[in-house]
Amino acid sequence: MEYAIEMRRELHKIPEPGFKEFKTQAFILDQIRSYPENRVSYDTFETGVFVRVKGLTGNRTIGYRADIDGLPIEEATGLPFCSEHPGFMHACGHDVHTSIALGLLRRIVELPVMDDVVFLFQPAEEGPGGAEPMIKSPLFEKYRPSEMYGLHVAPEYPVGTIASRPGVLFASAREVHITIYGQSGHAAFPHLTIDTVVAQAALIMQLQTIVSRSINPMNCSVITIGKVEAGIRENVIAGRALLDGTMRALNGNDMEKLEQRVREIVRGIEASFGVKIDLQFGNRYYEVVNDPNVVNKFSSFVKMNANYVECDAAMTGEDFGFMLKEIPGMMFWLGVNNATSGLHQPTLNPDEEAIPFIIHLLDHYFREYV
Ligand SMILES: [Zn+2]
Ligand SMILES: [Zn+2]
Repeated sequence: MEYAIEMRRELHKIPEPGFKEFKTQAFILDQIRSYPENRVSYDTFETGVFVRVKGLTGNRTIGYRADIDGLPIEEATGLPFCSEHPGFMHACGHDVHTSIALGLLRRIVELPVMDDVVFLFQPAEEGPGGAEPMIKSPLFEKYRPSEMYGLHVAPEYPVGTIASRPGVLFASAREVHITIYGQSGHAAFPHLTIDTVVAQAALIMQLQTIVSRSINPMNCSVITIGKVEAGIRENVIAGRALLDGTMRALNGNDMEKLEQRVREIVRGIEASFGVKIDLQFGNRYYEVVNDPNVVNKFSSFVKMNANYVECDAAMTGEDFGFMLKEIPGMMFWLGVNNATSGLHQPTLNPDEEAIPFIIHLLDHYFREYV
């Protein structure tokens, strides 16, 4: 079996949450140590790994980033190499991203290219975010590339298709965590309580007015409340309610507006329902902004060798945006032909043929074209 596909199957068995990718990191290090050492140097950072492969001239340094974390999703693919970690799955294809990096890395170690190539195996993309601490760490200076590439699997495209665009590819994203405190009591005596469920319902609906009423309709943004919790049984008024959600905006300035309106609406709910609300925002993921020159160079190359699609921007959040804020580069979608399942679904089953395809393509690109 192709080395990188073998790597993918091994990684698929051991999905781990952000900053707890201990087995994944050990697996990556074992692989790197098995390569001829003369050109390779590496360092660990948290549960991630920096690797440099010295080139023949080393005039420049090209970067490739792979995110390595899994998701708290119970796998339902029935694959013979399915997750051995109950409740966790590589449901966003980061096993594929990591195996592509290992395959490309081994290939470049065996047959060096002109430039140095650095690989960033990055933890915690799904949260709380590993890209920002990784590039802010002093180690990053030792590995700093002049140009960076990253990819994400795209189930909706066939194998052999690559999609991207110049400028904003993915949205700015920020999580929001809300806890509503009231007063519980008997369901028959609501006037003696402070019902957090009614306040929660009003808050959910009011939050949905932000995108339609407070953001310029020519701009794209989204607020999704994905998790709602409250109460213990049908005849007890809930004294506490929780909401977890995410805000997305293609225009970074709109993210500030979204945050400001969430704050104002929360204060309004407190005043009108007599509840107390604790509001927390998660780390902000910056927009993924592709450098137009890099996209132009890469897409011209892809068009000669495969199928290139100029796609629309998506509301997906990706902490690779932190890296592209610092280093010019680009992210692209890699077709994995799994249109019946989407990302973050328990049945996601990318076509592994995409792995040798993109390793070959990137190797060719780094070797002759970049
Ligand atoms: Zn994901
Ligand atoms: Zn992902």
